[in-house]
Amino acid sequence: MTEKMLKFVSIEQGSPEKRDALERKADFDEIYQGYIVEKAEEQASRCSQCGIPFCHIHCPLGNNIPDWLNLTADGRMEDAYELAASTNNMPEICGRICPQDRLCEGNCVIEKDFNSVTIGSVEKYIADTAWENGWIKPITPQTERSETVGIIGAGPAGLAAAEELRKVGFEVHIYDRYDRAGGLLTYGIPGFKLEKDVVERRTNRLADSGIIYHLNFEVGRDATLEELKTKHDAVLIATGVYKSRALKVPGAELNNIHRAIDYLTISNKKSFGDAVPSFDDGTLNAAGKNVVVIGGGDTAMDCVRTAVRQGAKSVKCLYRRDKENMPGSAREVQNAEEEGVEFIWLSGPDAFVGKKDVKKVHAYQMRLGSPDQTGRQAPEPVPESGYDIPCDMAILALGFDPEDLPTLFDTPQLNVSRWGTVKVKHDTMMTNMDGVFAAGDIVRGASLVVWAIRDGRDVAACIEQYIDTNTAANAAAAE
Ligand code: FAD
Ligand code: SF4
Ligand code: SF4
Repeated sequence: MTEKMLKFVSIEQGSPEKRDALERKADFDEIYQGYIVEKAEEQASRCSQCGIPFCHIHCPLGNNIPDWLNLTADGRMEDAYELAASTNNMPEICGRICPQDRLCEGNCVIEKDFNSVTIGSVEKYIADTAWENGWIKPITPQTERSETVGIIGAGPAGLAAAEELRKVGFEVHIYDRYDRAGGLLTYGIPGFKLEKDVVERRTNRLADSGIIYHLNFEVGRDATLEELKTKHDAVLIATGVYKSRALKVPGAELNNIHRAIDYLTISNKKSFGDAVPSFDDGTLNAAGKNVVVIGGGDTAMDCVRTAVRQGAKSVKCLYRRDKENMPGSAREVQNAEEEGVEFIWLSGPDAFVGKKDVKKVHAYQMRLGSPDQTGRQAPEPVPESGYDIPCDMAILALGFDPEDLPTLFDTPQLNVSRWGTVKVKHDTMMTNMDGVFAAGDIVRGASLVVWAIRDGRDVAACIEQYIDTNTAANAAAAE
């Protein structure tokens, strides 16, 4: 170990500067600045180089964190990038948007008395430095293979799988119904958490590596799954989960009540400079409105902070549990509060009120009762505590379920769970259809980018093994 390390006793934790709330409310740019070189080296040197690094154990990708922190502290940035990229296809993206407090940093052993090493910010610095210095090049496989793989979905799971499969020489085709690649990295997560050129340089690199995108191509509309299966030696389903959970209360059919995914997709499209009629005519634009977002997860946080940036008159977030029990990250709640969002904890809507357009949300105060099957205290309404909240635009951010893929893909034989997620065998990641694999949110249910990348990498190895086995069997049969 270099003598540069173990500095957590003398050097305090220092996260990258955050832009002032007033300034950042005026645009959709990221709110955190990057480290300068000295700061990155200094912060990396706080690591105590644990023999059993819990940060690494709790990173879904098993990143070699102590090693790349050590290299960063030594100023060996190209080596640090090589190592970071050996386990992660998008280190700069994870560095920006992983919930580090629940993963690597939350398990750093110096967390208790000294505050954890700022692992995510250093990871972002390493990969941003690599991009700036031109160290990240298109992939050139050592040999080209004749077999092809079709991937449905250009989100992080599909992209990570595509990259790994291309590295070993397969011809890779990605089909996506959107007009841009990236999945939720492009059209879900707002620019203030993840600027879009950060995603585009990754997707462009894959195109430069010979991966073929078929955009505006919806499987189910433009081809069936069986058709793709006949075209390719293996097919991967990586379609994510997009069916928004509904709120079944009186008035739910009124105008100006929107699904979070529609609202965020349109806002992201607008940030690209696209002409978007439903934004331009005011429908999905929060400017000048009293906005009420219902939900307590990260999607709700993204909606409230988007509404603030669009110039809403007021933005309120209604959540039926308390702050301690909300699923969204504490960091995002703090960012939202700084930007002027009002949180109404322990509050559950039971009706939307209005003639044609929503004018009010009627809600009850809630209290936390006995624990349910999951062990979480179930919220219950406090009798006679009903009250009204003025509302010109309501956004429902209550979570996502999978679409009905067997129907959509015209493959009733595709096995799905009772929640609609695609069932795969754990060791092969293959569905019950031969040569059809699945990965990412469509298997796990709504999850995280880092888990989608992990699944994409794992499924690529399974697909390679499947094709190799088939190729060997075909060769043997031909002899
Ligand atoms: P997706 O990213 O959803 O990609 C699936 C792709 O499949 C899409 O491009 C879609 O267009 C395409 N597709 C779907 N159906 C078809 C079809 N029939 N034909 C062709 N293409 C199809 N995670 C984090 O780690 N950190 C965060 O800060 C974070 N913030 C989030 C904010 C929001 C608003 C949301 C909704 C999610 C957030 N997540 C976050 C979760 C994360 O984005 C997902 O877990 C991750 O993107 C899942 O990756 P995926 O590749 O499985 O699916
Ligand atoms: Fe932490 Fe995510 Fe990076 Fe893993 S990928 S080290 S969990 S920020
Ligand atoms: Fe370094 Fe913390 Fe990981 Fe230990 S747990 S190796 S101190 S980052």
